[in-house]
Amino acid sequence: MQQHALTGVDLKEKLQRIIIELMDAGGTDGFWAAREFLKSQLDPTDQADLEDLVSNVEFERIQAIANEILESELPEMSIRFQKKFDEFNSEYFSMRLPAYTIKVLYDVGDFHPPVESDGIIDRHRKLIRLRVSESESLMVATLLHEMAHAATNGYHEIKWMSEMARLRDLGAPILEFELE
Ligand SMILES: [Zn+2]
Repeated sequence: MQQHALTGVDLKEKLQRIIIELMDAGGTDGFWAAREFLKSQLDPTDQADLEDLVSNVEFERIQAIANEILESELPEMSIRFQKKFDEFNSEYFSMRLPAYTIKVLYDVGDFHPPVESDGIIDRHRKLIRLRVSESESLMVATLLHEMAHAATNGYHEIKWMSEMARLRDLGAPILEFELE
């Protein structure tokens, strides 16, 4: 195996992108993210070497960085979606929702295994965790999904459904299929 000249920043950025991609596709952990990263570094004709790479010392370092990313927040995104929460609260809820803290994370926890959750609300701690996605519209729709929980309860039953229908009728960018 040839030694790759990977600087820390470059490696981290690439891993971040791979993690978002894999999470959007259903989920990942540090191991699979590191494996996918090494795969992307290999010459396509070299794929047979992939399992050797996994047992390489370098692999553990990459996996550790991937795990660190999976546990981290994206502070600038959190600020952006915090603003969206305030805007939506005013636009669609007449400021009736209590103040929530919005955190955008690479992983919000596997509330619905094996598929990763896009968002989780903690109504007691007044906290909404959103998973970063390549799809901004998914993140916006997830925020509204969780805000509809904040306005009602934690279930996907009649109260929440009618709240979602109300949001749709106001023209809020929700996911239509969630009402089916
Ligand atoms: Zn829900």
